[in-house]
Amino acid sequence: MAKDNFEEAIEGLKKLLSEKDQLGDVAAAKIKQLTAELEAKPDFDPVDRIKTGFAHFKKENYEKNPELFGELAKGQSPKFLVFACVDSRVCPSHILNFQPGEAFVVRNIANMVPPYDRKKYSGAGAAIEYAVIHLKVENILVIGHSCCGGIKGLMSIPDDGTTSSDFIEDWVKICLPAKAKIQAACSGMDITEQCANLEKEAVNLSLGNLLTYPFVREAVSKKTLSLKGGHYDFVKGAFELWDLDFSLFPSITLQ
Ligand SMILES: [Zn+2]
Repeated sequence: MAKDNFEEAIEGLKKLLSEKDQLGDVAAAKIKQLTAELEAKPDFDPVDRIKTGFAHFKKENYEKNPELFGELAKGQSPKFLVFACVDSRVCPSHILNFQPGEAFVVRNIANMVPPYDRKKYSGAGAAIEYAVIHLKVENILVIGHSCCGGIKGLMSIPDDGTTSSDFIEDWVKICLPAKAKIQAACSGMDITEQCANLEKEAVNLSLGNLLTYPFVREAVSKKTLSLKGGHYDFVKGAFELWDLDFSLFPSITLQ
């Protein structure tokens, strides 16, 4: 709804309401409810947002880089397979400035790599298989992040393992072994600090899980593929990067 029409509608309803003496109680209540609903509705048009977003991309990126997009029209040869969280604040193309064609990206709750399991985790397995065998990516980067809701969810699962969600908790249980490790090593810390540590330990567990895929193991042993862990802190604006070595150190911090 255009803004003017939207405001007009609210005004009209308010006017009707002010004349409610002439209306029945039910009609007045209905109008009041409608007014509240209209006022609560944000002035946001998703179709407009999509149209202007694509128009901006096409004008500023696509049309200004005919060579790049000409090459990409023929095929892709990304150097990275990236696992990132679905969180709207952590898009790897934004935080690492990946351009089209640079990164093959899998996003899921809490950026987890499940272990090799053809029935349970075929979605993740298919992406890893395609990236490693067909695209021959040279790097797999798993990126955790600050204030991750999925990690908080994992931390909140009671010790008896009971769950109340249809999918979320079963998914994040992939990193239960990392949770156990953090609970043992960081028992003196409060829950927020434990979560911050688990965000990184869960990345390490995912790097370990990558090695359960035979084609990943083979490429790593041939040194044609390297596994890296990362952690993006959007509160501090920092990015930590480390190699597969099952510990948080040595790592480099980019600020
Ligand atoms: Zn997250």
